[in-house]
Amino acid sequence: MNIKLAKSAGFCFGVKRAVDTVNSEISKANNKKIYTYGPIIHNEEVVNEFKAQGVDVIEEGADLSGVEPGTVIIRSHGVSKEVQKNLIDSGFDVVDATCPFVKKIHKLVDEHSAAGYYVLVVGNPSHPEVEGIVGWINGEDYKVISNDSDLSFLENVKERKICMVSQTTYNHRKFQDLVEIITEKGYDILVLNTICNATEERQVEASEISKEVDAMIVIGGKKSSNTQKLFEICKRECEDTYYIQTKDDLDLSVLQSIDNVGITAGASTPKNIIEEVQQYVRDEL
Ligand code: SF4
Repeated sequence: MNIKLAKSAGFCFGVKRAVDTVNSEISKANNKKIYTYGPIIHNEEVVNEFKAQGVDVIEEGADLSGVEPGTVIIRSHGVSKEVQKNLIDSGFDVVDATCPFVKKIHKLVDEHSAAGYYVLVVGNPSHPEVEGIVGWINGEDYKVISNDSDLSFLENVKERKICMVSQTTYNHRKFQDLVEIITEKGYDILVLNTICNATEERQVEASEISKEVDAMIVIGGKKSSNTQKLFEICKRECEDTYYIQTKDDLDLSVLQSIDNVGITAGASTPKNIIEEVQQYVRDEL
């Protein structure tokens, strides 16, 4: 069995930084309570391991009044200005592990909305990262769009300058298509491409490997949207693509008659889980 492991599989820079932040806070907690605001990453194993070390999750939007004081770590997706203020006002020590690439978007929309731009955010409106970005826009002059299906709102901003940013995980090609469509309509747009390369590099590599192998294994949490996207990309190129969370989900019988298998993993999949899967496939097949 030949195994091709994607170099880009696993934690990206921002996720690694957030997980390292939790470990660092645990090491200096000294009986102080530690929380993450929402699960630190979309990976149950990691969240449960932290829970076993006393790190609890404060669910987004939860009433903070009855929560024991302590340190709250903001995850890589970031939060709105209001949520951050609310945590500080409620007496928590806030440790901000927002990915610097997301933080940059907060700054851009904050500054440009204050300067009078209409802000257009391209991404999934219900994704926490996008909710956080929207929460840094001053005023109500903004719109979140996930595709080009309804651009009728542009009629109402005809005379305005538009500042266009995107969710870090948005698709490059689709973003460029949107820029072209809006430019062709004659709008004055300031395009700030805020897509993170880590996502694209991972997707391109996964797609390339999928073309070369007989079966593809994609490892990641079921709720991880970047892993789901990775799975779709691999499935397009390789019919025998399997989405697993850990090695226990892998049905070895489906891999019995193949020679080449590829492995990739989403941005929130820890290295040890990837290594376990790789070792399992190597040992058992
Ligand atoms: S995908 Fe990019 S923007 Fe998102 S957390 Fe990772 S490094 Fe940061």
